[in-house]
Amino acid sequence: MPSQYLDPSTALAHLETYSRSDGLSINDLMDSTIHGGLTYNDFLLLPGKIDFPASSVLTESRITRNVVLKTPFMSSPMDTVTEGEMAIAMALLGGIGVIHHNQSPERQAAMVRAVKRHENGFITEPVVLAPSQRVEDVLDIKARLGFCGIPVTDSGKLGGKLVGIVTSRDVQFRDPSTPLSSVMTTDLITAQQGITLVEANDILRDSKKGKLPIVDKEGRLVSLLARSDLLKNQSYPLASKNPETKQLYAAAAVGTRPSDMERLALLVEAGLDIVVIDSSQGNSVFQLDMIRHIKLTHPKLEVIAGNVVTREQAASLIAAGADGIRVGMGSGSICITQEVMAVGRPQATAVFAVAEFANKFGVPVIADGGIGNVGHIVKALALGAGAVMMGGLLAGTEEAPGEYFYHEGKRVKAYRGMGSLEAMDMGKSKTSSASKSASSQKYPEPQKSTTHENAATSRYFSESSAVKVAQGVSGDVADKGSVKAFLPYLHVGVQHSFQDIGVKSLAQLREDVHSGKVRFELRTASAQVEGGVHGLNSYTKRLFATV
Ligand code: IMP
Repeated sequence: MPSQYLDPSTALAHLETYSRSDGLSINDLMDSTIHGGLTYNDFLLLPGKIDFPASSVLTESRITRNVVLKTPFMSSPMDTVTEGEMAIAMALLGGIGVIHHNQSPERQAAMVRAVKRHENGFITEPVVLAPSQRVEDVLDIKARLGFCGIPVTDSGKLGGKLVGIVTSRDVQFRDPSTPLSSVMTTDLITAQQGITLVEANDILRDSKKGKLPIVDKEGRLVSLLARSDLLKNQSYPLASKNPETKQLYAAAAVGTRPSDMERLALLVEAGLDIVVIDSSQGNSVFQLDMIRHIKLTHPKLEVIAGNVVTREQAASLIAAGADGIRVGMGSGSICITQEVMAVGRPQATAVFAVAEFANKFGVPVIADGGIGNVGHIVKALALGAGAVMMGGLLAGTEEAPGEYFYHEGKRVKAYRGMGSLEAMDMGKSKTSSASKSASSQKYPEPQKSTTHENAATSRYFSESSAVKVAQGVSGDVADKGSVKAFLPYLHVGVQHSFQDIGVKSLAQLREDVHSGKVRFELRTASAQVEGGVHGLNSYTKRLFATV
């Protein structure tokens, strides 16, 4: 070997002769006095060393002072993103969905209750009949809802003493006016409350019955298991559960008007764990008063305040008692705030600035808006966020409110900003999720609903204006299938990215970013072009396949 070369076996030791590691430290990257505010697309993380499998990477994270989730994923409180179904699915998969407040307090509370009652596989709000009801009632339910096998309790309600069950065979060829007491099956196979899904499924399989009623010690009906659901009942090892009650965590948004305290009382009664105070500019006297008031009246509730983008804004909210801070102004995919108001901040810089400050007080930061792919999630976490909040990325999933429709040959769902005129004017809009979604049947607006002011106008402080200034647009997003396939993709994607970076957990990522071990690089405009697909005549972009 020619002598001008160094001995290869000294390569690692030779690194020590450099004054600093390759790439930039987080502080150098984020020095906005040099290169202005950055977005997620403006930088990359440099790879580290792989000496562990991606599947062993832990993504556990603190999203408020006292709530830890196994995955750092949240869905936005928007009326085209999070209602009951999304909130249940998000919690089962290890994240959390924040139920929007552009609806009556009663309907929002019903969704919180559904999340808290949800036991995977168990039907916690079954249709129940009374012995005095008639065969015609069963036939009616069968025609409307498509199923038979209905438990009968003495009160005709869930929580009543179980006295029988009626199946389609019990009512076949019977006079419609026959009372159920004379046709129902009373020889019952039941299971006790507290039974696991696996045990209950075994009993159901062995019993050859269609339904398995679950009763408490006094024989009162608490839930039901259906044979038809047997195959669908999966277990969710990452589920976000309150460690004391073992119930799924429930989160919901409120505004800052006096009427929001009444709304909050209903939500708390329904079992709410986390409240998100929803405002586009969170550093207001209204919000500070609201935080203090909540801390006095509902001390156990975790309060996520925001939105903010500077440490000065965050400081006010933290001092008032916030347990988590939501960061983002103008970065949302449907957002025109920066264009119209000339106010906001590029999201990567905002997340870094606020997280660097808030984390010193043990207050986690939620990076809200602008998350368009797995890479953006990893970057937000590397910048110090405890979780990411997603709107547009989840709006096209089955669990989001609203029905699919076709737009220029593509299957899509409506997605709109809460500051769009359509959301501020809810009810008149063609894409109003609340009026069109299938969940409007499951969570009907009460006939005598408390009049509620429009939540979208309060988020943007525009209730008293004669002219409504839009801060968001209304559009549609492509079909993404079920969130039950999409969220696991995001999770595994994050695990693989961490493996490339060389960190085994979110905690290690934080530590190594802080110590300067994890390095970054700025991306020029041409580097961004190079990092995307380029030079192809045409291509298909499929993001994941489930095996
Ligand atoms: P996305 O995930 O990029 O689609 O952004 C979702 C986030 O945008 C939400 O969580 C809100 O913080 C924010 N947002 C929702 N509606 C509007 C709007 O009308 N204007 C501006 N920002 C909005």
